[in-house]
Amino acid sequence: MANNFQPLVDRILKDGKSLEGGILKVDGFINHQLDPILIEQMCEEFTRRFDPNSYDKIITIEASGIAPAVILGLLLKKPVVFAKKKKPSTMSNMLVTEVFSFTKNTSYHVCVSGEFLTKGDRVLFIDDFLANGKAAVGIIDLCAQAQAEIVGMGFLIEKGFQAGGKLLRERQIHVESLATIESLDNCTITIAK
Ligand code: 5GP
Repeated sequence: MANNFQPLVDRILKDGKSLEGGILKVDGFINHQLDPILIEQMCEEFTRRFDPNSYDKIITIEASGIAPAVILGLLLKKPVVFAKKKKPSTMSNMLVTEVFSFTKNTSYHVCVSGEFLTKGDRVLFIDDFLANGKAAVGIIDLCAQAQAEIVGMGFLIEKGFQAGGKLLRERQIHVESLATIESLDNCTITIAK
């Protein structure tokens, strides 16, 4: 059963657009223009769903995960690390993994400095969407390389008709999604109950 956060569901139904190919467009409040008030409300919900004492650091992937991750970090006064999609030439002790992008239909490298993700870190991963779980699995790989512990994974929107949610929950990861989409068939947004 989905555990939806009603203010987000209402906003998706009001301003979200279902595009061909099973893509949900939320450019008006998450992916391009940002609604900081809604993002703050969502992050407050994350503070209720994940025990703030259970993690020390928040990790995300650029670009769209950064806004909610930073707001959550601000609320809890915890550091935020974002994995980068380009390998900076200046990064030392770099941890790298490969991620397949559903929306762009191509693979890219994701990296983080071993300086900011270290052995014993207890991290919460935050991202905008959970689709097939490729970005999340990339973060699991980076945390394994660093010997950091993933305490949970929080997503603003989960596409329940794609494989990521099942895959992560089968791995016993504590996954929380603030809105679960049951279907985008016929360009209609159906929210999971
Ligand atoms: P996954 O790695 O779970 O397969 O895909 C998650 C990533 O793909 C998210 O970080 C997001 O950037 C992008 N994504 C997947 N599906 C959608 C979608 O329907 N709409 C948008 N805006 N991004 C999506």
